[in-house]
Amino acid sequence: MKISSDLHLHTHCSCDSANATLPYILESGRKLGLKHIGISDHLHTAFNMPDIEIARKEFLEMGKIPNFHFGLEITCATRWECEKIAKRDFASCFTYNLKGHPFQTMTPIDGIMFGGPAGGPLYLDITQEDIDRLGIEYIIGGVHKPNYTEMAPKPMIDDFFNQTCFMLNTPFIDILAHPWDGLEFWSTDYLITKKTADINFDVYYMIPQEYWDEVGHLLAVNHKLAEFNGGFYAMVKHPEKVVHFFMEKMCEWREKGVKFSYGSDLHSEPMDGFKMSKTEKILTEYGFTEDDFALPPRLKNS
Ligand SMILES: [Zn+2]
Ligand SMILES: [Zn+2]
Repeated sequence: MKISSDLHLHTHCSCDSANATLPYILESGRKLGLKHIGISDHLHTAFNMPDIEIARKEFLEMGKIPNFHFGLEITCATRWECEKIAKRDFASCFTYNLKGHPFQTMTPIDGIMFGGPAGGPLYLDITQEDIDRLGIEYIIGGVHKPNYTEMAPKPMIDDFFNQTCFMLNTPFIDILAHPWDGLEFWSTDYLITKKTADINFDVYYMIPQEYWDEVGHLLAVNHKLAEFNGGFYAMVKHPEKVVHFFMEKMCEWREKGVKFSYGSDLHSEPMDGFKMSKTEKILTEYGFTEDDFALPPRLKNS
């Protein structure tokens, strides 16, 4: 099993700590033998739109390069935070009383993580006009934070499931990023304690089978790709048994007709293929082949 595309690569324009330049990504991807290379910086809310504009400018400055693509990783956000951000009403995100601990962020760069109404309406903060104007060729949808939900396994699993289904029912989403990833700390007190011991990987085993089945069903019928995220499958942070548990679930999705995409989720150099070769190894072990992978529709003919 040889991976031929990496569509989840963050550039130095991304709002987080990513540091790779576009020429570096292109050159490294070519050295790794990748046919399709796609950059996909974060858009948590429209607050990050200037980053995407800069990435687009740098992308265009490189000229037309076959199979080098301009994508985006959008976060499932809430209408509440997007409305606040549109009004530049950021006060509530600076300090929030989280279980008696002040949780401080410096800017709403990651969206407004706390203080909103639990279970409120979800929102993807981009318009078709933005997509057309910026020449966005594909969109990866990711759950990156809860919808102001109690930080405990059951409500957090329900929340992640809800957000996932919301994105899979959105026409412009092409790829589901790292399914369920992040539950291991959002469902615990880790954000408060910052103790590694509080990270709970067992939460993944608590996801009801019907949630796996429904997500697989939506991926298949709505023709979205499920991502094999290099950061997850290369066991950089996840225990091996969790990786194998996920592989069994991915086999179930494959049975339902789901097609897959690979993304290393590069955030910093080097882009050396370490995650890719580890992921290839486990894919091979579970009988995945090139035929199980596909490109988002807009990339197929480019
Ligand atoms: Zn992500
Ligand atoms: Zn990412």
